[in-house]
Amino acid sequence: MMAAIDKTEYETHVFVAGGRIRCLRCTASSTRTKMQCGRPALKSSRTQKCQFHGGRPHSAELLRRISEANVLHGDATKAAKQQYRHDSALIRELEDAMRVLEVGEGPRLRGRKPMGYKPVLTQEDVVRMIQERLLHTV
Ligand SMILES: [Zn+2]
Repeated sequence: MMAAIDKTEYETHVFVAGGRIRCLRCTASSTRTKMQCGRPALKSSRTQKCQFHGGRPHSAELLRRISEANVLHGDATKAAKQQYRHDSALIRELEDAMRVLEVGEGPRLRGRKPMGYKPVLTQEDVVRMIQERLLHTV
């Protein structure tokens, strides 16, 4: 049995059709045997891989379909995370404003402050927060 090969010691070419055709060899290696794949790489492959190791080029349409298939509920998308951060910061700032204006009571929210949170400590901060977060005038 051959030993696992170093990434720098890859065979770059392979002979097919009884040694008559020399072509680029797939650079993937087996996770089980750690040996280099013996198949010829696809000509269209940018990374020199065979069709079993991801050599087919991905069209924009295919990438979109893969991405769509991997989204389960959309809660972890960039837009959803950004919206969650914004809403969390708004809740924190509203709670701060409630303290400044001395309305309501009860324990404060625990834990770290969300990204984008600006402390509301004075009545000027309350005015700024309302303009920024609720009226979108600043
Ligand atoms: Zn391969």
